[in-house]
Amino acid sequence: MFEIDRAIALVREAVQPYPKAAMFALAEAGYRSLFEQVVACILSIRTRDETSLIVARQLFDRARTPAEVAELSTAEIEAVIRDSTYADAKAKQILAIAQTALANYDGELPCDRSTLLALKGVGPKCAHLALGIACNQPYISVDIHVHRVTNRWGYVETRSPEQTLAALEEKLPSAYHVEINAVLVPFGKHICLGTKPRCPVCPLQDMCEQRGVN
Ligand code: SF4
Repeated sequence: MFEIDRAIALVREAVQPYPKAAMFALAEAGYRSLFEQVVACILSIRTRDETSLIVARQLFDRARTPAEVAELSTAEIEAVIRDSTYADAKAKQILAIAQTALANYDGELPCDRSTLLALKGVGPKCAHLALGIACNQPYISVDIHVHRVTNRWGYVETRSPEQTLAALEEKLPSAYHVEINAVLVPFGKHICLGTKPRCPVCPLQDMCEQRGVN
């Protein structure tokens, strides 16, 4: 049986030298409100962490709360976030979320999954990550790294991130629900790479089934 406690402990140690995943890095820098986390996650979609971190900080320098963002026009937001992929669509989504928070929730998004999923531009990956970081709610966020690595381990056997989420919700202890994303994103970027995973230097080599690795 795959020893998940040992795996997480080893990965936690292995990723120490590498930059934290973008959302966790932002939280550590003080950007940990639910609105900031949701906006930062939207900015990170299809955008490299290195870029989305800079873009999120540029936007938060200008406006950090729904009230402050709602003062901006779509064009102003788009100009600040232009280095993020799909900046025009994201600017509209961010402004609409700020306006929704003001109109319906006294200017602060509530820590509620279905409310977040009803916002345009917010899917389970972003909703879960934001709720985990900002609200301490034990949701799992599955991106391509979490999906790939847990399948290579043999911990899950799935064909899509959606299936991986369902499988992890079944078997992953809740203490790791938020942390799995924090540790597997840098692990997937620097050790268990998409192509050419670095198995010879991987601390999990003795316990990993290396499924799908040539
Ligand atoms: S042994 Fe290889 S496939 Fe398994 S986790 Fe490590 S790098 Fe990834």
